[in-house]
Amino acid sequence: GFEVKHLVKRYANADKPVLNDISFKVEHGTVLVVLGPSGSGKSTLLRTIAGLEPIQGGTISINEKVIDEGRPGTEKAGRSNRSSELRTRIGMVFQSYDLFPNKTVLGNITMAPLLVQKRGKAEVEAEALKLLERVGLADRKDAWPHELSGGQRQRVAICRALILHPEVLLLDEITAALDPEMVREVLDVVLELAKAGQTMLIVTHEMQFARAIADHVILLDGGHIVEESHDAHAFFAHPETERARQFLRTFE
Ligand code: ATP
Ligand code: MG
Repeated sequence: GFEVKHLVKRYANADKPVLNDISFKVEHGTVLVVLGPSGSGKSTLLRTIAGLEPIQGGTISINEKVIDEGRPGTEKAGRSNRSSELRTRIGMVFQSYDLFPNKTVLGNITMAPLLVQKRGKAEVEAEALKLLERVGLADRKDAWPHELSGGQRQRVAICRALILHPEVLLLDEITAALDPEMVREVLDVVLELAKAGQTMLIVTHEMQFARAIADHVILLDGGHIVEESHDAHAFFAHPETERARQFLRTFE
């Protein structure tokens, strides 16, 4: 599992922290959906968990082991000081397609396991092919990113994260920049991952999908968790707070 305790994230020159005393736990094999209005700090939360931003208070742990601890005065630091080994324990896929343009599909997926994890080439390529099969792209292994559709690129980005066997996979609005006809093919892959027991933290504005995949939901607003539910069905059917009712109404 994965846990955040009393997390505080502050950007330099901002009067208020973006995230103020955020705590939650994601059990191994479950899916947390993070909801909230624009600017509520969803991407910031995922970026701090991924180690892309330092935190100023609280802790982030994987399987009860603290991997990041808040330190005041780090607002201007570029990244958390997590080791590259620890970084590979958490995978992230972003809204924008961030594949390396000068590497093929296979090259994109195998780069980190070869260079960071120092795994053997034959084994890594065999696993990459298995992952590509799983997302329906085995026949595109030698393609370049610019030759792929947005939905295909996102599926490759998912494979690139999965090959590192992350304890938790963070997905930040991975279908938001896609044409509607490509959204389904990406969401179906994510639903399959959930069925297979991949622990995930998902930010999405696709409420049907959120309803279908969530085990656990948090709604962020104003730097805080305004509602948390371990019964996702109940949350979507009968949210407890007026703020959550109001938020969900904007998707009707
Ligand atoms: P959206 O739904 O629009 O993606 P979000 O919930 O992901 O929004 P964030 O991108 O996390 O929101 O931003 C939260 C707040 O932090 C915003 O007020 C934003 O302006 C601010 N912010 C984000 N990144 C930075 C940064 N690098 N420096 C300073 N402020 C930032
Ligand atoms: Mg965002």
